[in-house]
Amino acid sequence: MMKILIVEDEKAISNFIRAGLESEGYACGQAFDGLAACDEIDENKYDLILLDVMLPGADGFEIMEYIRPKEIPVIFITAKAQVSDRVKGLKLGADDYLVKPFDLTELLTRVEVVLRRYQKGKTEFTKAGVTVNLDKRTCVKDGREIPLTAKEFDLCVFFMKNAGAALFRETIYERVWQGEYTLDSRTVDLHVMRLRKKLSWEGTLVTVNRIGYRLNA
Ligand code: CA
Repeated sequence: MMKILIVEDEKAISNFIRAGLESEGYACGQAFDGLAACDEIDENKYDLILLDVMLPGADGFEIMEYIRPKEIPVIFITAKAQVSDRVKGLKLGADDYLVKPFDLTELLTRVEVVLRRYQKGKTEFTKAGVTVNLDKRTCVKDGREIPLTAKEFDLCVFFMKNAGAALFRETIYERVWQGEYTLDSRTVDLHVMRLRKKLSWEGTLVTVNRIGYRLNA
């Protein structure tokens, strides 16, 4: 589930945004001033930040400087429609800009576009102590590259992208091997065993009774 942090000091607006995002299946966190926002960003993993410019504590531009090295996409939200503010926000690395008042549909569309763009451009990610790079097709654990076969790599990425969810053998097979699953197929189990061993994922990549597997992360 995608997690979005709403940084907005006006509670009514923050709650309005939250309700809208939650109705679309996003998980939300809220921060009502600049410092609380920095704490939230340090303590939780967010996929996107909606950032109001005028905030008590530290303003949105200052927080942007803080967020940038963390590579979390940001959509600025502001009442100010001045061009200079937009330019400043985008120069600082914001992904998009929303001017208050905006309607929910506009917000949701922009959120979706930014998230999609970001996921597409994201070639490297880390889960369960393992970092994969989709361009280089490398898999690194504890600073050491782990050699994986093509299917093991695809399987590993599939588990990482769906971390926390129990995945049916059928689903795994269909998505990774892109073929029809037959009940007597041991392919998935064999590959999972190999992957578990290579990445020392015993206790991390677990068997789920009568379903399949789950990567705990
Ligand atoms: Ca404000």
